[in-house]
Amino acid sequence: MALIERNALSETKLYDVVIIGGGPAGLSAGIYAARAGLSVIVIERGAFGGNIFQTAEIANYPGGMATEAGADFAMRLTAHADTYEVDRLAGEITGVRLDGAVKVALLGDLKVRGRTMILATGSVPHMLGVPGEKEFLGAGVSYCAVCDGPFFRGKDIYVAGGGDSAVEEAVFLTKFARKVTIVHRRDAFRAAKTLVEHARKNPKIEFLLDTVVKEIGGTADGLFTKLTVENVKTGESRVIEAEPGDNFGLFIFAGMKPMSELFADKLETDKGYILTDEQMRTSVPGVFAAGDIRKKQLRQAVTAAADGAIAAIEAEKYMEV
Ligand code: NAP
Repeated sequence: MALIERNALSETKLYDVVIIGGGPAGLSAGIYAARAGLSVIVIERGAFGGNIFQTAEIANYPGGMATEAGADFAMRLTAHADTYEVDRLAGEITGVRLDGAVKVALLGDLKVRGRTMILATGSVPHMLGVPGEKEFLGAGVSYCAVCDGPFFRGKDIYVAGGGDSAVEEAVFLTKFARKVTIVHRRDAFRAAKTLVEHARKNPKIEFLLDTVVKEIGGTADGLFTKLTVENVKTGESRVIEAEPGDNFGLFIFAGMKPMSELFADKLETDKGYILTDEQMRTSVPGVFAAGDIRKKQLRQAVTAAADGAIAAIEAEKYMEV
């Protein structure tokens, strides 16, 4: 199957599995459910493939190629789902009904009904919450290196954060930048050692450690040219200014926050992450969660795909009881 039109959906149709979220977890669940002979729909508000669409390279998915772009991987994943009877619907969920034997996903006045539901909505970038961040979004400030990196050819780029995303995307941004400075609030990194070592060897990368971004500022016509940073150990703050006529880029990778607002009061969560057991079962019977939305240790495409597979198989077992 493939993408289906909203108006082609019959409200009386009862799917075996309704999956919310079309990233690696949701699409993997869709593939496993369809292969088990279940009727299944995957609903996604953005790009099918999920956040991985915006990742420069997929280097650690077993069997993948180190040089494959995230967008290519996301498209392969979607194409794979399309080789099975997986309905895909583009649209934003406005609510869910999880209690009762029939689970309902609401998209405005449209209801998509299922005997089981898999929540795989993932996470979205965390904002720094500093002055200027919203004002300069899309005009110097970005949360996506693949999307916006090419706009900063020959410029100085700042990257905020010290996790895998910050370090990996900083290396990617050296393709475009004159110089990339990683601004991190500690002197130790959350990112994998190998990534940090790789970045340290890159002559275009500099580190501004024990330092936080305090303010993002610029010219009256909206060019980002001023970055105020503060050393958290000394309390000293300073303003870094672009050369006259030049401007900066700031890419923020300060972690992710779970996309669970619509479910948080309906099942058990911890800091917004949905609690599940090893079978991906949530606190509500017939409702499963998979991928980054779950409370778990390792949030990777491969663990999301594995969660999705387990959730689909467990949904099948739930319906057999
Ligand atoms: P992350 O691991 O949560 O790292 C977030 C970083 O942002 C941390 O260094 C944190 O500093 C910093 N930070 C958070 N809030 C901040 C604030 N208000 N001001 C300044 N700095 C702030 O997030 P991520 O790098 O996006 O990774 C998310 C998940 O995806 C992780 O599980 C990661 O392993 C995975 N991932 C994996 C790969 C890969 O395997 N290649 C690539 C990308 C992402 P502290 O360290 O001081 O807390």
